[in-house]
Amino acid sequence: MDNYDLIVIGAGPAGYAAAIRGAQLGLKTACIDKSVGKNGKPTLGGTCLNWGCIPSKTLLDVSHKYAEAKERFAGFGIEVGDVAVDVPRMIANKDAVVAQLTGGIGALFKGNGVTALAGHGQLLSRKRVLFTPHEGEPATLSAEHVVLAPGSIPVEIPPAPQDGARIVDSTGALEFDAVPPRLGVIGAGVIGLELGSVWGRLGSNVVLLEALDEFLPMADARIGREALREFGRQGLDIRLGTRVMGAEALDGGVQVAYQDKNGDHSVTVDKLIVAVGRRPFTDGLLAPDSGVHIDERGFLYVDDLCATEVPDVYAIGDVVRGPMLAHKGMEEGVMVVERIAGHKPVVNYDCVPSVIYTHPEIAWVGKTEQELKASGEEVKVGAFPYAATGRALAAGEKTGIAKVVADAETDRVLGVHIFGAQASELVAQAVVAMEFAATAEDLALTMCAHPTLAEAVHEASLAVSGNAIHMVNRRKR
Ligand code: FAD
Ligand code: AMP
Repeated sequence: MDNYDLIVIGAGPAGYAAAIRGAQLGLKTACIDKSVGKNGKPTLGGTCLNWGCIPSKTLLDVSHKYAEAKERFAGFGIEVGDVAVDVPRMIANKDAVVAQLTGGIGALFKGNGVTALAGHGQLLSRKRVLFTPHEGEPATLSAEHVVLAPGSIPVEIPPAPQDGARIVDSTGALEFDAVPPRLGVIGAGVIGLELGSVWGRLGSNVVLLEALDEFLPMADARIGREALREFGRQGLDIRLGTRVMGAEALDGGVQVAYQDKNGDHSVTVDKLIVAVGRRPFTDGLLAPDSGVHIDERGFLYVDDLCATEVPDVYAIGDVVRGPMLAHKGMEEGVMVVERIAGHKPVVNYDCVPSVIYTHPEIAWVGKTEQELKASGEEVKVGAFPYAATGRALAAGEKTGIAKVVADAETDRVLGVHIFGAQASELVAQAVVAMEFAATAEDLALTMCAHPTLAEAVHEASLAVSGNAIHMVNRRKR
């Protein structure tokens, strides 16, 4: 029986980070992953690199360039003539990016001495793992420490059974071979908005059917309102408070029946994306006597340090509580393995940034003004519009707002919320500030290069105390 110091099941961002860090720390490490890429060969990087963050951002960035060229360049004085889209080439470019990055994980494994095992892993009792390779005989491996990182898969809903061709999940929506003239999306959450934006920019008429009455309830309420208005202007037809009752692929298209407070309706589309969330993936992961438990929502049960109930067995990433985000899983992977090696890091779950990669982007860290007020906390708020930011105007990016929320008494920053171009990059400065327990004044006293979009966050932090320079302050505290 092969014996390892560390066996990781799953080579997504959580698992591969754990495996690489483990090997760096001198642990004899194996990482088992069963994913097979588009080329039929084993692939590393999990959902994130193969079917998630990276391919979706590639299509988002490229479709944004297309929309800019088609709709905005002329206004900037750039004549480009007819702008056309070649979907197969766009998809091939996306595949090349994926191949480069997944291959990069293979190179990192090799360079750090991680043994990559292609196939299925199952946790047995007593820190043993049954490895069933894609080819060859199953083998039982043993380890001093096991890390479970099997990730998540899309939720399916009975009213919209997927056929892999016209009714698809997020993975299928990254592979269309042409722009669907009419596109339906069930779920106006993060993934639905991102994929709806991709195909909407390329020319689809997009209808998003969202069960909730409120748009993006997890985001700041003002930003949610402004984003809904802006996405509407971009042509995304977002229908809130709608319950999908059925979807049927017929000759003339996919007929989607839904209900709202006014009654029954239907809409016909060429493709339907089901983007109603993801669920932890634990199928076949645990032998009946593994000792690891699954909670009532399907997540592996762990404590604050990602330890399961079985000593030396940990679980990280999308399969455990907390936001389903690649960077959250990576931090957990590094934390768990460093603790195995005797270090004492922790993951600061109060400082996990969230991003929605629409245009403009929505990004935040910490709590919203509404959440804090609802829990009885007294806060002060500073907001600053992109439209008053020199660089935003120079770049043609005047839509947006930056908002800083601070404790009314201590001035400590409790949340930063940004809707605007490059919000995903700007939120990093807010994460650093919050990680170091900065006050709004600390942020306000920190210089920003001029002209930059970061100045919007800087001015918002000045506005917390009524001291913004580039707008008239509403009140002075
Ligand atoms: P995964 O990435 O899901 O990897 C788990 C791996 O384990 C998979 O390869 C799986 O096949 C393998 N596995 C599972 N069980 C076994 C087993 N028993 N044996 C062997 N192998 C097994 N997050 C962000 O932070 N930013 C984004 O911009 C973003 N965009 C996204 C866009 C889309 C369209 C989607 C679908 C997701 C996006 N996410 C994004 C979410 C992100 O992809 C996940 O949070 C992240 O991949 C989770 O990492 P993980 O390592 O926990 O699991
Ligand atoms: P996210 O988890 O951010 O990808 O968002 C998924 C979205 O899908 C959430 O906003 C849910 O409210 C929404 N949703 C879930 N089930 C349904 C459904 N049956 N019909 C419409 N929207 C749904």
